[in-house]
Amino acid sequence: MKVVFPSPVWAKMLYWTRKTDLECGGFGYVSIDGPDAIIHDVIMVPQVATGSSVEFDAAGIAKAQYTHRVENKPGELKFQWHSHNTMGAFWSGTDKNNMETLSQHGWQIFSVINHKGEIQSAMWQPSPEIRIDIDTEILEIPRPLSAVEYDGFMVSVQQAYEAKDWHQVQAEVEWIQEQLTRGPTDKEAGQMWDAEFEANWKGKHKVQITKGKKRSRIQHDFFPSYMDIDEEDLEEWVAAINREQEGYNK
Ligand SMILES: [Zn+2]
Repeated sequence: MKVVFPSPVWAKMLYWTRKTDLECGGFGYVSIDGPDAIIHDVIMVPQVATGSSVEFDAAGIAKAQYTHRVENKPGELKFQWHSHNTMGAFWSGTDKNNMETLSQHGWQIFSVINHKGEIQSAMWQPSPEIRIDIDTEILEIPRPLSAVEYDGFMVSVQQAYEAKDWHQVQAEVEWIQEQLTRGPTDKEAGQMWDAEFEANWKGKHKVQITKGKKRSRIQHDFFPSYMDIDEEDLEEWVAAINREQEGYNK
């Protein structure tokens, strides 16, 4: 058995992972197709994260379940992913406890990834008890070709054709074939999800600070990361997050 990520889904998960030095994570919609567990999409839910832990908000998970049912999208919410930021992609003791809890009523697929794009995946189910690490495959789904790229190709191939430069015509055709079959590069994926930010997040996200007696909580709505911090560190964090927010709002 293996877990299969279509390249845009993989790119989205990796993009979120690399947007923060904290851990982060979420869920995903999966269906089983023969020996493959296909991940149709990944989502985030509100969470409390530090550099070495992440906890998901139960109400956020329930909302995701509900939304998925109403929208009637493929797969089931039986995939959970989280990042280990710059650390190794391996199962910690906490991860295994979490996997046990989540899989006590049926099968679940899990992945842990890091900034380098390393990944470990597993399938757990209660009965008959199966707890196996499984391979991961990234399925290249072609990115859409832009109108500018397409027009550029048409002009170049026309020029080569008129010049009877058959070598160049062939090179142009090979180029377009490659463009039409490959998935997004990291850079293109970044641009893709930056575009998602423009459309769905810009101007809507905010930083909330809940002051406690000894510790305060920062909630950063962009990829929702939340963090409990000491009073002394608060000002520094607020300044850093405001700088980041200014960058996004430009
Ligand atoms: Zn972990």
